[in-house]
Order: sequence, then C-alpha cells, then structure tokens
Amino acid sequence: MNLAAHIESPLYRTIQREAEALGIEVYIIGGFVRDILLNRPNTDIDLVANTRGLELAQACARALGVRKVDIFKTYGTAHFRFKDLDIEFVNARKESYSSDSRKPSVEQGTLEDDQNRRDFTINALAISMQAHNYGDVIDPFDGIADLENKILRTPLDPNITYSDDPLRMMRAVRFANQLHFRIEEDSFQAIKRNCERLSIVSMERITTELNKIIMCNKPSVGFKLLFDTGLLHRFFPEMVKLHGIEKRNGIAHKDNFYHTLQVLDNICESTDNLWLRWSAIMHDIAKPPTKRFEEEIGWTFHGHEDVGARWVPKIFARLKLPLDHQMKYVQKLVLLHLRPIALTKEAISDSAIRRLLFEAGDDIDDLMKLCRADITSKNEAKVQRYLANYEIVVEKLVELEEKDRVRNFQPPITGEDIMRIFALAPGREIGIIKNAIKEAILDGIIHNDYNEAYQLMLAEANKMGLQPAIGE
Ligand code: ATP
Ligand code: MG
Repeated sequence: MNLAAHIESPLYRTIQREAEALGIEVYIIGGFVRDILLNRPNTDIDLVANTRGLELAQACARALGVRKVDIFKTYGTAHFRFKDLDIEFVNARKESYSSDSRKPSVEQGTLEDDQNRRDFTINALAISMQAHNYGDVIDPFDGIADLENKILRTPLDPNITYSDDPLRMMRAVRFANQLHFRIEEDSFQAIKRNCERLSIVSMERITTELNKIIMCNKPSVGFKLLFDTGLLHRFFPEMVKLHGIEKRNGIAHKDNFYHTLQVLDNICESTDNLWLRWSAIMHDIAKPPTKRFEEEIGWTFHGHEDVGARWVPKIFARLKLPLDHQMKYVQKLVLLHLRPIALTKEAISDSAIRRLLFEAGDDIDDLMKLCRADITSKNEAKVQRYLANYEIVVEKLVELEEKDRVRNFQPPITGEDIMRIFALAPGREIGIIKNAIKEAILDGIIHNDYNEAYQLMLAEANKMGLQPAIGE
C-alpha cells in the first residue's frame, strides 16, 4: 500500500528533504497513519528517525520558519507546532521493562524495534518518507488487515504487552469503544489475566482514558468491557457494586449497573458535557447501601441521592477528577436527580417548583436532561406515564420561571441591609430574618420584591423585639 497522495503538501516534502540532507531515514508512525486509513481527522503527527531525530526537528523547524521547538532531552523528543498541527520527532527506540514500573529503560533501536514496542498492530503502521519508496506503508504485523476487520491486536504476545505497560489495557477498551473495534480473544483473555497490573499505573493516566471512554458516542460499550475484563473493579468498585439483581417474594429490582449505563448512553444523545455525563454515572451510585425490601412496597433505595451526593467528593478525589466547580456540579445533580419526577407524585404546587428552580439555579436545564435520561424501563406504559409527568414539570418550570424569576434568585434584602436598618452586629437574628424572607418568597406568600420583603422583615424583627434604627 502507498499513501503518498496523503503526504504531498510542502510540510512533508520539507521533512523528506531535510532528512535526506542529514543522510537519515524518517517515518510517520502510529495514530496518524491509522487515522488516514480510517478517514478520521488527526492533527498529531509522530515522526520517528533512525538517528539524529532532534537535529532533524530543528532543521525542519528552520526550513518551515517555525521559531519555537520544544526539546525534551530526557525523553529524546522534540516538538513544534506548524499551522494547526502538532509535530513530534523521536529516535527509533528499543524498550525493556521491569515489573514494578510502566516506564521502560530505553536504548537506540531500529524502526522494527520501534514498531515492536507499540500497543496495537493498527498503531504500529509506519509510512516511509524516503525518496525511493515515498508513501509506502510498512506493516510488519498485518495492521491493515486488522483495520479492515476492526480488530485490536497487540504486535507481540499480549500477556507481555499488557503486563509491561498495563495502561495499554485501558487504551484497548478506549479504542474498542471509540473506533467500534473488537478486542481480539487472546488479547481479551490477557487483559483479564493482567487486570491487577493496573495498580502500577497512575490514577491520572487511568482517568484520562476513562474520560475518553465517557466522551464516546455510546460509552456503555466501554464500561461493559471494563466490567467484563475486571479493570473497572480496580479503580471504581462502587460502580461494580451496582451490578446484579436480587429477588424477594418473587419481586426483583432492576440491575442498577445496566440501568446506569442506559442512562449514560441516553444523556450522551443530548450533551457533550463531560460533567453531565459523569452525573449520569453517579446518579444511582449509592443504591447498593440504601437498598431495603419493604413488605408493602417492594425494593426501595431511600436516601440514595443524599448518600450518593456525599460520596461524590471522595470518589472524585480518588479518581483524581477536579474537586472544584465540576465536582460541586455533579454533586448537586446527584442530590436533585429525583426531585423533578417526585414532584409529579402529588399535585404539583408552585412552591415546590419554585424551590426546585431556586436550588438548581442555572443547572436546571441539565438536571432536566438527567431526569429525562433516567426514564428507562422495559415496561413501555410506565415509560409513557413518566414521560408525560416529565413534560408537565418542564411546562410548569418554564411558566413559573417566566413569572417569578427565581432561578438565580437573590434575596431582595441582604444581610448587610438588615444589619444597617436595625443597627445590629452580625448574629443569629440576621439569619432568621433572611431565611423568613426567602421562605416567604419561595412559598409565594410575598413576591420577589423589595417593598414586600421590607414589610415582612419588619414583622419578623418585631417578633424578636427589634425596631428599625433608621427609617427608609
Ligand atoms: P489518540 O491520539 O486518539 O489518543 P493515538 O493512537 O495517536 O490515539 P497517542 O497517545 O497519541 O495515541 O500515541 C501515539 C502512538 O504512540 C500510538 O498510536 C501508539 O503507536 C504509541 N503509543 C501510545 N501509548 C502507548 C503505550 N502505552 N504503549 C505502546 N504504544 C503506545
Ligand atoms: Mg495521537
């Protein structure tokens, strides 16, 4: 196979010329080659030279008018940006691993050595940039056939490949999900056998791959593979515990693992927001510890939203996910995920809707997406009934928000106002009055309005024997 037609632009011809001038060989290798053949966009070009790769990088940068070249001496790599491309140069290497680290010791090698150390046959493809065979694909492991058959296979013995660098197991699942490929059977078995080796991989690396899985169109595919290989058990035991059903008096509850994956797939159709996707993963995470069988009702999971929300920080910390606003957002959605549908169990009062709007704030639309995604059942009539209820809540929300504007409700009278008006130092009275105003507005007793709030404040203060120090 020859891909010269794909590498005709001046950039590639410059690299070819500069390599020729240095008297060295250079190849494009890895993901970029794979993606040409899969017709996927890719802006990372990895080049491997048989020797003097860093000099080649500098010569190319000079010839292309690129000023800034980043040289990483320890890794023997050089990188620069050209237009929207990231171009990286390395020398061909040969790697050897020790059992306690995924960082190999490295020595100068041949192109063949370099291809041997790649994770998958489809990632080991190289394109020659030498004049005599410009564009020829060098495919020692039948990667092209694997691309056509949509198979993920390791170039060498999968037991060794995965044990050497266990991150490759996460990459296998990620590529399987992303590219819609199948993990070849020997590889699959090797991952199962080596899943415990994941313990030598840093959590950050694992999570990077996990987030790539979550950003796939249908992440359930990746999560099922993580579960079936035993990888998920290594870093996300809470999710594993969602798996399985229990039956009592002939009544079974649904399998919350597969339910969660269905909710995740559903929400992926309406959002690319990684954190909303994480909310779907976490929404029922505390169902196992809150599960009870009640004779009259059947299975219940009372309070799973509270416990789940409390778990979010510790799970995020362990997975090295961000602990600031993203975590808070996931926590809030987990806490509130039952509220919209629960509202429909009684006659929906304006006050309940107002409270929901107030608590969800600007995240109300995302919360409603999560609720919509959460409606899964094999029972079609049930789904239809829930959907109808859901629509009623959506309508009510829109109606009330237009009328009352409580979504980003700021109390019309602040704590500072109260202190000034009554000449008070900070103390519990202020909180009591503020809260009374908020409650009255949310209950619809007064409008979200300064004068009405002022009158209520006077009445509340009076109950505590307080008189305004100034008139307004
Ligand atoms: P993507 O950029 O979509 O994540 P990619 O295949 O380009 O996919 P990179 O992480 O950019 O992945 O790596 C570039 C190339 O380096 C890969 O195609 C593969 O040949 C090699 N590679 C990356 N990580 C590993 C690894 N852990 N073990 C072996 N080879 C690897
Ligand atoms: Mg890449």
